[in-house]
Amino acid sequence: MQPRILVVEDEPAIQELIALNLEQAGQLPVLADSAEQALERIQEELPDLVLLDWMLPGQSGLELARRLRGDARTKRLPIIMLTARGDEEDKLRGLETGADDYITKPFSVKELQARIKAVLRRRAPEITDDAVEYHGLRLDPAAHRVTGKGKELAMGPTEFRLLHFFMTHTERVYSRTQLLDQVWGDHVFIEERTVDVHIRRLRAALSPSGHEAFIHTIRGSGYRFSRA
Ligand code: CA
Repeated sequence: MQPRILVVEDEPAIQELIALNLEQAGQLPVLADSAEQALERIQEELPDLVLLDWMLPGQSGLELARRLRGDARTKRLPIIMLTARGDEEDKLRGLETGADDYITKPFSVKELQARIKAVLRRRAPEITDDAVEYHGLRLDPAAHRVTGKGKELAMGPTEFRLLHFFMTHTERVYSRTQLLDQVWGDHVFIEERTVDVHIRRLRAALSPSGHEAFIHTIRGSGYRFSRA
């Protein structure tokens, strides 16, 4: 899945440089040059990560971070603060506000990518390209391939995303609504029954290696992916 990254930066040259780098890394940049514009973009569609400049005209990056953390819809949104300040005290203030990481300008594109990947891996492992393994089941996002006990398992793109989410969020119960939010994306209104249809297809796809037994239906709650 292509990570959607909101870049909140008022300096056009830096904004452009970051956008170019994100595209080269296979990420989708969404641009905003103020906190107000960032909120509009977030309203339209929730990004997977926010690169947030500290010094912005109008509301500061720090205020925006605080606001995002205070809202139920955005409180888990990964945030990396960008700033010209290298001060330890400022860094602490940024992290206390809820930023996940902090990059001091000027930064190299290599450093930027390393930080983005580290934060995504920590906060949303299902959108990185790292292969995942769980008790004989292996999913490789880069190759778009799933194997169970060494056998290749064929499945559709939605089942693939659903399995990727499950394999990076094992042992926990997710409701149909949560699965719709996480797997189908924000602001997409689909009937909850759709989840059941894809679960049924995923079970069928996993049956050649017996891994369909890992999908547990929890009556009245939703689904859990676990070995037992
Ligand atoms: Ca700035």
